[in-house]
Amino acid sequence: MRNNCSSSTDAGKDHDEAETEDAMRAAIIQEPGIIRIRAVETPRVTMPDEVLVKSMASGICGAGVHIYRGEYLGSYPMTPGHEFYGVVEAAGPGMRRVK
Ligand SMILES: [Zn+2]
Repeated sequence: MRNNCSSSTDAGKDHDEAETEDAMRAAIIQEPGIIRIRAVETPRVTMPDEVLVKSMASGICGAGVHIYRGEYLGSYPMTPGHEFYGVVEAAGPGMRRVK
């Protein structure tokens, strides 16, 4: 399974098939009060200063609770989990000290 560090509002493109090399599973808050586990496209390193991090564990902090409750000014769907640890799987050419 691959994962990433993204917690943006863009949860990625949905996949019909189960988890593949190009897809990963993500817990997505579809709308306040509704969380779904979806297959989404695995992000790729596209810029020299980017890294792809395979998350090993993630917490949900108070911000995630507010997002779940609809006490958030951003847009949905939203992928929570910005507090995590992981392993760098890929790095852009400008990221020489992280891998
Ligand atoms: Zn937080």
